[in-house]
Amino acid sequence: LWIIPNQPQTWSTTLSRTIQLSRLLKNRGLCVQRERGERGFTLKNKGKMRNTFQRRRNLADASSRVLSPTRVATDQLSVKAHTSTGILSKTTSTTVQKRVAHTPTMKRPVIPAEFGAKVPTNVRQRYLNIFIDECLKFCSSEQQAFQMALEEEKVVYDRSSSKNIYLNVAVNTLKKLRKSPAVSVNRKSQSHEGVLGGRLAATTSYTINRSGKQQDVDPKGAILYNKQKKYAMTEEQLQEHGYPRPHPEMSGQAVVHNLPEKKNNDPFSKICCRCGAEYKINANGSCVRKEECSHHWGRLRRNRVPGGWETLYSCCSGAVGSPGCEVCKQHVQDGRKESLDGFVKTFSKPLPVDGNGGVYALDCEMCYTKQGLELTRVTVINSDLKVIYDTFVKPGSKVVDYNTRFSGVTQDDLENTTITLRDVQAVLLSMFSAESILIGHSLESDLFALKLIHSMVVDTAIVFPHRLGLPYKRALRNLMADYLKRIIQDNVGGHDSSEDARACMELMIWKIKEDAKVKR
Ligand SMILES: [Zn+2]
Ligand SMILES: [Zn+2]
Repeated sequence: LWIIPNQPQTWSTTLSRTIQLSRLLKNRGLCVQRERGERGFTLKNKGKMRNTFQRRRNLADASSRVLSPTRVATDQLSVKAHTSTGILSKTTSTTVQKRVAHTPTMKRPVIPAEFGAKVPTNVRQRYLNIFIDECLKFCSSEQQAFQMALEEEKVVYDRSSSKNIYLNVAVNTLKKLRKSPAVSVNRKSQSHEGVLGGRLAATTSYTINRSGKQQDVDPKGAILYNKQKKYAMTEEQLQEHGYPRPHPEMSGQAVVHNLPEKKNNDPFSKICCRCGAEYKINANGSCVRKEECSHHWGRLRRNRVPGGWETLYSCCSGAVGSPGCEVCKQHVQDGRKESLDGFVKTFSKPLPVDGNGGVYALDCEMCYTKQGLELTRVTVINSDLKVIYDTFVKPGSKVVDYNTRFSGVTQDDLENTTITLRDVQAVLLSMFSAESILIGHSLESDLFALKLIHSMVVDTAIVFPHRLGLPYKRALRNLMADYLKRIIQDNVGGHDSSEDARACMELMIWKIKEDAKVKR
């Protein structure tokens, strides 16, 4: 299993090794789970994994992650949900080279399954395995390594009230284990606050430290605001990239420039945005016929093959035009650009005396309803990477598909939610002014879901463009892997809006620090 030491490593080799390692670990975790005959795991197609346990996150977990709009930020934990450096993503297309696996002589310990536990067992098992691998590097026996890893994992679990916090704490523990074996061995006497990192870790963990020596100071306040402002989109860019813009005459109405011309004028005929099929709806928006939607949920990817390139779906490596690898109950539409009313616009407010208009990162999750894509969760992160607003949102129309694979939001999450889009808009209008900088990845998508018109936008998909130019855009997880050397969106339960929003903020803080280095 182990990685050959003492070899000059470039980041890409390190990454691919880490990925290979994680894949091995993950597979091992799966094997362990399967051996134990747990229900809930189905391995459907290559590389496709689901865990129904994870989907049934209990409500206690869900509510602990969500702030009500009236309780903003005061007691929010600084949850850093950057998931595990070095865990394979479900969409990573890196090829795995054959390598000889390290065969442990002892059977690895297994996390006992607790149904409805605050952290899914497979996540715990995955981290236990990673901890074991780290401990094996410096422990004198497997027995000792297993014991230490079990203790570490238990501390992480006991400390965590939710999966997000668990991931955060686990990553910090892992860093600690990797950093200094000697410290870890002698750590019995050290407080676990030290392990968890506390304030120091929260401020330094996103500081990229290439040389391993210097500690950068993160720009704050008005300095940060003014530096980010240079990346704000112009009105022309906002229009070019299809952001919602204010209607010149009607307040509450948005206009979109550069919309592709609509070919289909029949209001009762829709094109499914997943599989491309045409389907009929009735007057109240429901599908006329029960037709399954067979589609590929992954993206098309170009892969290098001997003699050229081939384009395959990232979900199942299926060819273009191959039958879908996922079947959902019915077809769905985006629909967000079809009703451009109900929009609100941020108000201009005088800048505070220090000149800091505020810098925030924002991300939304959506589900499919009869109307199309509707908001189900929104997260706002401030420039200290703290969650200042995070809530589930009840969609206005009947849900057709929870879209959990992408949103991470489940039916359970929305069951007891009473917050509506209108409530969210009210909170955001008081939180932001027209001068506030909102950072996001393809933020236009979020602004349509929020029905929010805002002009001071920093879009990480534009700041970090694809080398082929538009319409290609780089995925947020690839940006994070390339620039911050971190793997995000590794969660089998779907994306996490707080993770994505934080990633955008971190990327932009990284960017202005890089700018400063160049100037020096
Ligand atoms: Zn597929
Ligand atoms: Zn469809």
